[in-house]
Amino acid sequence: MARDKLLIVDDELFFREVLKEDLRDRFEIIEGKNGNEAVDLAITHAPALILLDIEMPSKNGIDACRILKNDSRTRRIPIILLASRHNKQNMVLGLKAGADDYMTKPVYIPGLIARINAHLRSTDFYSDLEKKDLCFLLEISERISAIRNPMKILTLIVEKISEIIDVARCSIVSVNDKGDAVVKASSDFTTQEELELDLIKYPEIRRSLQLKQTIIINDVETDPLLEPVRAETRGLEFHSIIVVPIVKKESVIGTLLLRTASRPKDGITSRIHKICQLIADISANALENAVLFESVQAAQEYFEDIAIRDGLTNLYNHRHFYSRLEEEFNRARRYRLPLSLVFFDIDNFKQINDRYGHPVGDKVLNQIGTLLKHVARESDIAARYGGEEFAIILPNTGQRGALDVAQRIHIAVRNHIFSNLSQERITISAGVATFDNNNMTSFQELVQLADAEIYTAKRHGKDRVCQKI
Ligand code: GH3
Ligand code: MG
Ligand code: MG
Repeated sequence: MARDKLLIVDDELFFREVLKEDLRDRFEIIEGKNGNEAVDLAITHAPALILLDIEMPSKNGIDACRILKNDSRTRRIPIILLASRHNKQNMVLGLKAGADDYMTKPVYIPGLIARINAHLRSTDFYSDLEKKDLCFLLEISERISAIRNPMKILTLIVEKISEIIDVARCSIVSVNDKGDAVVKASSDFTTQEELELDLIKYPEIRRSLQLKQTIIINDVETDPLLEPVRAETRGLEFHSIIVVPIVKKESVIGTLLLRTASRPKDGITSRIHKICQLIADISANALENAVLFESVQAAQEYFEDIAIRDGLTNLYNHRHFYSRLEEEFNRARRYRLPLSLVFFDIDNFKQINDRYGHPVGDKVLNQIGTLLKHVARESDIAARYGGEEFAIILPNTGQRGALDVAQRIHIAVRNHIFSNLSQERITISAGVATFDNNNMTSFQELVQLADAEIYTAKRHGKDRVCQKI
């Protein structure tokens, strides 16, 4: 089969070479380097499509475009303008001069190929789009290129779309390999929330994912695809639906879902269809990044959390304990609030290890961690201070309150039946100290005082709480 002829006109040899490299398998390439050559070559070769750079010496792309679109021999050849990202003015001029499409440099090749194919399928791909639609698409692309946060991009897209289409709701949904569907952005979201979708309720999305094709439902009330969910769609404020798959590197990573509010007689027009298709293309990068962004963020949060926790008990570790204590000490001083610290050390723990083995000792420590979490309030900061030593920071808590917490921990541990210890009970020695805003100058002092109270408790026979008054 004869390959389509593609005319590439650009004054930069390097750029032509790059495009040629990617396109020569599918097209017979003809090259020009200025506007005059563009016109001559278009007339001689009658290419199927022209890629036309806007900024060129002698005759520029806009002038060439005007001539080509005014000549009956070349009028019907689709022209895709190639423009630098910053020059929006030129792109608008180019579209006014009759260009069929535009892309910004650096050109994303798969995107370019998709556009070329679209134009070759219907020579007048954009004919039923209005000028305001093209300007809208242009504006969206421009704004997107200036936004870093992919979630913001998706939100912008779904919000903007309702300015040119009579939309009841527009959503961008991500779908992973397992088929989990999450609404990343929706025109009726009030916050940046995300919403998991149960695809059972959305046969139109399922079908679109299955076929990797656009699904159009012109009349929600009669379309057989929606039969299983008819009861739920009845009485809703929309009449037609279009679902466009969002494709990245040949796999479907989500869908653009649009429901129109207009009556069924209008249905999904070819104009809406094309706008949605283009918007789906535009959204692909942002959607991929949004999903990636989230997994990176989740991983980061996971590692940040791991870094501050003790692996055995999942309480905060020694380092985090100190940084929080310093913070809380400064806060207490600034706002003139009390701050207390409870330390405790397990009594005769060496014997437990000796009798039951180290792994059982570990399990005991883990269970004590769990007890501690139960006794602590939300605002308390519980940590594993060392081997079998624990600490709990009590913000905004004075002597009485702190003694109360320490006693509750003391009783909770003493009463607890440990699963691996054949009825043997564990006791602790606890020390309590309180900063009341004029009794010390540093958080280290608070640590020393609480620690000293543990030794007082040990000296007096263990299994007790001692408090520095
Ligand atoms: P005391 O009542 O005086 O506190 O007696 P003790 O036996 O608890 O004395 P000490 O504080 O000297 O010993 C602590 C023991 O705790 C020694 C160590 O083997 C054990 N230990 C410390 N960290 C861990 C741990 O992570 N896992 C286990 N299983 N044992 C630990
Ligand atoms: Mg100890
Ligand atoms: Mg001990």
